[in-house]
Amino acid sequence: MGYLDQSLEKIHQDLKEHKVTVTKLVEEAIEKATKLQKECNAFVTFTTEDALQKAKELDQKEITENLFFGIPFAIKDNYATKNVLSTGSSRILNNYLPIYESTATDLLNHADAISIGKTVLDELAMGGSGLSGATGVVKNPLDPQRLIGGSSAGSCAAVTAGVVPFALGSDTGDSVRKPASFGGIVGFKPTWGRISRFGLYPFAPSLDTVAFFTRNVKDSAYAFDILNGYDNKDMTSFNFPKEKVYSKIDGNLKSPKIAVLKEIYETISNPEIKNKFDHFFNQCKKLGIQVDLISIDKKLYDTIYATYMILSCSEATSNNANLDGVNFGNYQDGNDIDKAIIATRTNGFGELIKRRFIFGSYFLSKENQDKMFLKAKKLRRLIVEDVNRILNQYDAIVLPASGNIAPLFEEVNPTDRLSDEYLLLENHMAIANFGGLPSITIPCIEHEGLPIGINITGKAFQDKEVLNLAYALEKMIGGNKK
Ligand code: GLN
Repeated sequence: MGYLDQSLEKIHQDLKEHKVTVTKLVEEAIEKATKLQKECNAFVTFTTEDALQKAKELDQKEITENLFFGIPFAIKDNYATKNVLSTGSSRILNNYLPIYESTATDLLNHADAISIGKTVLDELAMGGSGLSGATGVVKNPLDPQRLIGGSSAGSCAAVTAGVVPFALGSDTGDSVRKPASFGGIVGFKPTWGRISRFGLYPFAPSLDTVAFFTRNVKDSAYAFDILNGYDNKDMTSFNFPKEKVYSKIDGNLKSPKIAVLKEIYETISNPEIKNKFDHFFNQCKKLGIQVDLISIDKKLYDTIYATYMILSCSEATSNNANLDGVNFGNYQDGNDIDKAIIATRTNGFGELIKRRFIFGSYFLSKENQDKMFLKAKKLRRLIVEDVNRILNQYDAIVLPASGNIAPLFEEVNPTDRLSDEYLLLENHMAIANFGGLPSITIPCIEHEGLPIGINITGKAFQDKEVLNLAYALEKMIGGNKK
């Protein structure tokens, strides 16, 4: 324990009452990060000196009302940070020093939060395991025999271990909301377009969202307040006035109604886990929430994973074409430009993402475009239409974020990838990326001493409503238990 295991509000209070200094907080973060690095390999780069320097400066200043004042945090290494190594956990960028700062990290810096370093991800955010970062595997601080999940693996590990109370991730399919489940913390992906993606390395931009980890829901609301807003550097950022939701989150719900998608929920194969989630939904009913198990068109929802892979791999291969050693990335010598590019990309990328680029090129090729890429776009639209139809009748869709606890390393890929449990239960959170919907995972049940989260997805732009429902459920569940 220490200060950094607590909420932003609590740490802020202690700072204001001079029970702790910013320097002390940063020292605690560094000490814990060093230990976590040995045990779980969460970081690519530490920015210790800059962090201590900034802490010293802030300790001379008057403490403002801003909850991020002097708060140590961590950044997934796919955000460009000026003059700080930003590798995307890929060998091809292992010496890349950006000359600009991403908007998200810039806003946090201006809010006087203090970055202590950059965290490991699945290479260029493609993956869900934390196994494919160029600097090695990330382990789960709750049990280092297990993975923490990905792609935002290091950021999730850092918050789970209490190194920092806030960390930036990114979410294209579920990369914040799935690991949050395995770490027993909160992971929030706001509505697409509400937070600028300028400086976030693109994976699949029509799905990519700035997203983050906190220890509780109100901290996520506060982070949303700092980060949301229009940015003319990101042409997909919505021209919406900046919204402040934190002070409006009170957990009061007006005749709340939630939908549990039957054909997804019923694929949970472990009866004990299913019982625990049943119990959770019964508790929701006792709280006055209308919980309806509603039936969906299984044939349509069975296509989530394939649709996600076709769209995301296609976007990835075209968006990462600039990593060629000429525009970006380590240049590998070759006798001519083609050979140099081939050598750069062959040496620079790991196996997993090379496979995804090949798939993407295949889906985009002239002869396959109609039957694969365009078909996936249509399926995406059909799924989103159906989800929006449900969300017009309910406040949110609520489902387990995973059917089980974090897997052991030796059981990675244990599931039959064509089983309903895999196709539906382990991939349903991509729905929120298809529709750009706000979606949050909060800790919910425990099994064999490890957490599994519940995921709450609401209508586009109803970030406040989703956070408020999550806050009410968090109060009911009793919050983070680790
Ligand atoms: N697990 C998904 C994938 O493998 C999610 C990745 C993400 O959200 N960045 O692509």
